[in-house]
Parts: sequence; C-alpha cells; structure tokens
Amino acid sequence: MLPRTPSTTPTAPLFQALSLGAGVQSSALLLLSAHGVLPKLDYAAFADPGWERPETYAALDRLEREVANPAGIPIVRLSAGDIRHDALDPHSRFSTMPLFVKNKDGSRGMLRRQCTSTYKIKVLLAEARRRLGAEQLPEGRVGRTKRGLFLEQWVGISTDEIHRAKDSGVSYARNIFPLLDLGMSRTDCENYLAKHGFSAVSRSACVGCPYTSDKGWRTLRDGHPEQWQQAVEFDRAIRAGSARANANGIPLRGQAYLHPSLKPLDEAPIDPPRVDRKFRHLRLVDTSERWEGDPDGCSPWACRSGSSIAREPGQAQPLGRAA
Ligand code: SF4
Repeated sequence: MLPRTPSTTPTAPLFQALSLGAGVQSSALLLLSAHGVLPKLDYAAFADPGWERPETYAALDRLEREVANPAGIPIVRLSAGDIRHDALDPHSRFSTMPLFVKNKDGSRGMLRRQCTSTYKIKVLLAEARRRLGAEQLPEGRVGRTKRGLFLEQWVGISTDEIHRAKDSGVSYARNIFPLLDLGMSRTDCENYLAKHGFSAVSRSACVGCPYTSDKGWRTLRDGHPEQWQQAVEFDRAIRAGSARANANGIPLRGQAYLHPSLKPLDEAPIDPPRVDRKFRHLRLVDTSERWEGDPDGCSPWACRSGSSIAREPGQAQPLGRAA
C-alpha cells in the first residue's frame, strides 16, 4: 500500500475578521474580543456605502479610539463608492436600492436589492481575499485565493435572531456567530455595551435607506435636518429610478419612492396619528399602516429585509397595494 501524501490544505483559519457595522451586535463582538472574552481579532472591517448617519460614523470613531486601538485590533474602512452619488449619476454603477415602486396599475412593488451586495458584501470579501494573499488586479479588483485558504468572519447575530445566520456563500470566508455560542441576546449585548460605557448604540444604515422605519425617519427629520434634507432631495431625484439604468435604456416601469406610502418623503405619513384630547380616555385602534422598517439595520449577511430578488430590469417585486 502506498504511503498517504500529507495534506497541505490548511485546517485552521488564517485570520479572524469581524464584519463591523457599528450597531449593537457587531459592536458587542468587538468589545468581547478586545476584553479577551473572545479570541483576539486580526481586524474588523467596516463596509461604508458613503451615506451612513452621522451617529454611525461617530460611533465607529469612538469604537476605534477607545476599544480597537488599545486592544491592537485594526479597523479597516472599505468603500465601493457613494451609494447616493451612484444612484443619481448616469455614469456610475447600476446597483439598485430596494426602492418602493408605484406600478402603472397602481400596485406597489419594490426594486430588487443589490446595494447590500455591492457596497458591503463584495468589499468585505475582496478584503478577505487580499489578506489571504490573492493578487491585486487593476481598478481595485482582487483575484482569487489559493485553494483551501480561509478566514473566519464573525457576524453579529444574537440568539433572538438566530434565523438570520447565513453562510457567506464562499469557501474562503467562513461565517461564524460567536454571540450564538455565548448564548447572548440583543438585550445581553446592549447590557454588555452599557456596562462598558456604550449605551444607546444605533442601527447602521444609509441615510436614505427605504427600510428606515417611520420612527427612524422622524429621528432623522427632528435630529439631523441636514441629512433629512438630503433624503428628501434624494427621494425626489430617484422618482424615475436609477440614472444609470435610464441611461442604459432600461427605464423604470413606474415611479420610485423611499417611503412605502408612495408619497414624497416630506409628505409621507411618518408621524403617529394625533388623538384629540377629549378622546384620549378611549382606546382607539390605529388602523393606518405604520412602517416598521428593519430594526437592526443593514447587516451584510443578515439583512432581515429580504434577499435580493432577481427580476427583469426595471420591474418591481410586487408588495400589494399602496396604503
Ligand atoms: S442600508 Fe439600505 S440602502 Fe444602504 S446598502 Fe443597506 S439596504 Fe441598501
């Protein structure tokens, strides 16, 4: 019998990397690693679509200054461009946001979501390949990794959202979910963060994300007038859909909006209904449609807002009739 050739395929990950969105769960993972509860990360990567809320950038800066730097964990900021600019520029990439669409027959639909993949997943995976030794190609692209090499990519999924845990879809970046192993819920994460001085961590998402809840829009309008104005202007500007798609002769069959009411953002019903003082003692049932959005923000591999749906260009996924 011939002797067996020893396998050269690595059985251990070369790196431990965190997909850092600066929201509750991924921030908790960073702190847990920095505090030695979890193994030390080799790096934490923040995929920046270029239009996050100011509090997200501020939270990221603070995490870097007060947690990552002292622990020797580099935070890498990655970018595939500026989602707001790209959507409005006919010469930029064609990568649709999940915009609500008023179809010609009056029904409501939603465009397929490509932005999470373009602005988050692809840049995180390119960084993973680069660190695993893949060749740097022209125009910022990164080649393939050698067979068998892989890193472990930490994804912030807590026990209350176990159904969001997903594979990366590639063999060189294996998603792992340390919060599940620790049995930590979102509340546990919030408590851990608060104990270490990081209370009120907000969700991370683009300023003009259509998955923003009514409450989120109110917070933007009342707390960040400049970003609110950006979102209002963006909403007006995308009524005919992606500028690049139109330039490519793929017009949108309908009108696009940021809010599911299919009204301009500054006219959308984002406030709770007012109740006359004299009727306050009655338990009134609110029958108007409220938009809850995605409470956890835009997580590259765990977006609860639904997977991208391949549809014909310019066609929206049906969602039912507008309110
Ligand atoms: S936050 Fe919304 S708009 Fe931004 S990348 Fe995620 S899904 Fe797209």
